[in-house]
Amino acid sequence: TGTRELDARMSVCRACPRLVTWREEVAAVRRAAFAEQAYWGRPVPSFGPGDARILVIGLAPAAHGGNRTGRIFTGDRSGDWLFASLHRVGLAALPTSVSAGDGQRLTATRIVAVVRCAPPANKPTTTERDTCRPWLVRDLELVRSTLRVIVVLGGFAWSALWPALVQAGFPVPPRRVSFGHGVRVELPVSGVSVVGCYHPSQQNTFTGRVTEVMLDTIFGTAAELAEV
Ligand code: SF4
Repeated sequence: TGTRELDARMSVCRACPRLVTWREEVAAVRRAAFAEQAYWGRPVPSFGPGDARILVIGLAPAAHGGNRTGRIFTGDRSGDWLFASLHRVGLAALPTSVSAGDGQRLTATRIVAVVRCAPPANKPTTTERDTCRPWLVRDLELVRSTLRVIVVLGGFAWSALWPALVQAGFPVPPRRVSFGHGVRVELPVSGVSVVGCYHPSQQNTFTGRVTEVMLDTIFGTAAELAEV
């Protein structure tokens, strides 16, 4: 399938030296310390069907989340918040995402990251963001014919999306709209809605900047707009 081919090609990407070193170091150290734990330690593929109507764009895999389990937003606190909300609004089969083989399944929704390899301190550089853009472009091309809504988690992903949309052939409005929670932009021609959402990072959920209700409102709206 298109998604398998995309995953296979991405899984061998080594374009960012700093991230290749980090993802492999984290995996090697943990493997040595906990022999029973398999660590993915490679670029983390997108999760969800290739004919998705909703695309959710996150920042990057967490060192001990996606970089450990091999599934994006899986095995870390941000992912717990994200999948629980997707489940509450009917877009995820289960309220948690633990690891491959747990039975989790997304409905008409695909989760992707702007940067596909875990960065130190969860902070990719703008160069790494731009280097990883071709993979985001491929994901946009993959879902092009079915896509209705893009939910963008955080300002960094928002900044990455616009040039990727242009490269993937989506017409975009002439004036760039600033990121904000609940900000919505309709793309000309395609009619795709782009919706901003604060990232459910541990810092944001811990301080109350992001609440369950806020996430459910955004994803509920996305499901409605996409007629899922
Ligand atoms: Fe390749 Fe993206 Fe990983 Fe960089 S972050 S090595 S471009 S998959």
